[in-house]
Amino acid sequence: MPHIIKIDQQNPDKDTLDIISKLISKGKTFIYPTETFYGIGALYNDETSVVKIFDIKGRDLINPLPLIIPEISFLQKISADISTNALKLAAQFWPGPLTLVFKADDNLSHTITAGTGTVACRHSGLNVINIILKRINSSITSTSANISGRKNASNISKIDKKILDSVDFIIDAGNTNGGLPSTIIDVSREPFKILRKGAIDSSLLVDYCSCIT
Ligand code: AMP
Ligand code: MG
Repeated sequence: MPHIIKIDQQNPDKDTLDIISKLISKGKTFIYPTETFYGIGALYNDETSVVKIFDIKGRDLINPLPLIIPEISFLQKISADISTNALKLAAQFWPGPLTLVFKADDNLSHTITAGTGTVACRHSGLNVINIILKRINSSITSTSANISGRKNASNISKIDKKILDSVDFIIDAGNTNGGLPSTIIDVSREPFKILRKGAIDSSLLVDYCSCIT
């Protein structure tokens, strides 16, 4: 089993945050908590680690990987074409469990986009992860910590042993909220389309933005 680093979600220890940030910046793969479930992370621009995520999950290379970003302004590094309505949605519902699919910047890894020309991304509502992302000033993959097609995990003990053994380290922050995964909306063209119903009620989103179908 790889090294498990325990962290308090409410009151994260500074030295522990330093250790975690250094490991991520070096290109390590890891399990980490989000406000919904545990995810598997790798630096978004470290191609070797990104490819490893597909191996770890047994994920088909035609299935793109979502990202989480440190703040809304980071969007300019991954997409060159974001509509005003898409930005409004992000500003209203981030940080939180809303994944938005944007047109991807040409420079973004084609492994992440899986050749779709789009990238799914969100600003997580879990404070401890945002602190880490701000420290590394980068984005990480945010796919769920399960073998493709299996159940999501809201606690380290619920993660498949094969997944736990395949990453470089594990961030254990106890229980996450579980429930529904993030809601996914394609905002790469209007009208926006709900791709997956999830933690943010679709009717709230449709009420806020008339360009969602
Ligand atoms: P997971 O399977 O845990 O990685 O969940 C992420 C979800 O986001 C999956 O349903 C993916 O198909 C979806 N997703 C990731 N990237 C994209 C994208 N570029 N366009 C549309 N859906 C995406
Ligand atoms: Mg999943």
